[in-house]
This record gives sequence, structure tokens and C-alpha cells, in this order.
Amino acid sequence: MALFTYDLHVHSCLSPCGDDEMTPCNIAGMAFIAGVKIVALTDHNSCKNCPAFFKACEEYGVTPVAGCELTTSEEIHMVCLFEGLKQALDFDEAIQPYRMKLKNRVEIFGSQPIMKEDDEITGEDPWFLPAATSLSLSEAAAMVREMGGIAYPAHIDRESNGLLAILGMFPDEPVFDLCEVRDKENAEKLSGGRRVVVSSDAHRLTDFAVTLNHMELDCDPEASPEEVRHALFEKLKGN
Ligand SMILES: [Zn+2]
Ligand SMILES: [Zn+2]
Repeated sequence: MALFTYDLHVHSCLSPCGDDEMTPCNIAGMAFIAGVKIVALTDHNSCKNCPAFFKACEEYGVTPVAGCELTTSEEIHMVCLFEGLKQALDFDEAIQPYRMKLKNRVEIFGSQPIMKEDDEITGEDPWFLPAATSLSLSEAAAMVREMGGIAYPAHIDRESNGLLAILGMFPDEPVFDLCEVRDKENAEKLSGGRRVVVSSDAHRLTDFAVTLNHMELDCDPEASPEEVRHALFEKLKGN
């Protein structure tokens, strides 16, 4: 057992609201400097910068996690994480038909660059990424689980797009035994006894690692990224 610092909700510049400086390399570099050992990249409705992020993390000795922050049809934000990069990319592919084809207006919302390693831009997502998908909370959670991932409501302590602000309480279905808060202080009051992940939802480099959060994992501190990720997913699954 060892304590690992983590942040499981970080946006890259692919999210239109994410700062241009939030490139995969800069996030990995910042994690290294700040001492965050495990970082999940969770752009709005896209996992397309995860391959570049994985490469960048390799250089810095940070354990990367692939995922996204899905907007459900109810406008609830849900963190979706996958143990394998390939699983995340398959999920990215699977959600495409459910995305709203609302053209991204770069001058208003910001750009949505897809990057390869070394932060080289290889493309741009043309559709506004944070727009609600046509997947309901139940459908989206079921889809993530079927594809081997973990899904839980994001920032339940936030008004905008938080599950509690929208539904007023945790629904009976789908069952969530895990939830995310941005402020640790809110965990006990809002989680209803669920296990809690505290993450930054960073959109700028300065949002990132303001406070360090720790998780105890059944894993050696010097273990490989694969081993650390496996231990993390076991923990998130409640095993
Ligand atoms: Zn959100
Ligand atoms: Zn977010």
C-alpha cells in the first residue's frame, strides 16, 4: 500500500473552455513539477488528446488515465474513465453518433485542437464539444460500464452541470457508489455516504494542483504506470 497524489479531472486545450496552454505536454510537465502522480485527461465528450497525453506522461514519469467528461441529455456532467487507452478511444468512437452537431464558434467558445505528441496540432473538432449528447444519464453510465470503464457524476458541489443541482438528489438508477467533488469540505455533506474523488476540473495550468489530493492504492510507489492504473481502477471499483 502507498499514497498516491492524483487529479482525475483535467481539461486540455481540446476543450474549448480549456486554456491554450493546456497542451498534453504542458499538463504532464505541470503534474511532474507539482508532484501529482496520477492524472486523468477528461475533455468534454472527447478522448482524442489522450494518446498525446500518454506519450507526454511517459517522459515525465506521471501515470496517465484516459477518459472524458460526458454531457448527458439532462446536461449532467459525468466523468468517464478507462483503464486502457484503447478502451477510451473505442468509447470516443462509440459516442460520436450521440453528439450534437452544433458548429463550434471558435471566436466565441475557443478552439478545439487535437494534438499528437510534442503538442503538434493535427486537427480540430468542428462540433462544439461540451454540448449535451443524446445519451441519458442511465444510458451513458451503462455504455461506459459495458465498455469496461468507470462513470461517476462530476463536481456534485457545483451549480452548473452538477448532478445534485439538476436532479436534486442521487437517482435510484443508475446506481453511483462514487462521486466527485471539487472542494473536499463538501464531500461528507453531499456524497450521501458514497466514496468520493476530489479533483480540480482544471482548465488552466494555474488551476491545477492548487491542493494535492491523495489516495491509498494497493501498489508499490515505484510501480509501472500500468500497475498503478490497475490499482487505481480496483480502488475506484471498490474492490
Ligand atoms: Zn463539468
Ligand atoms: Zn470538467
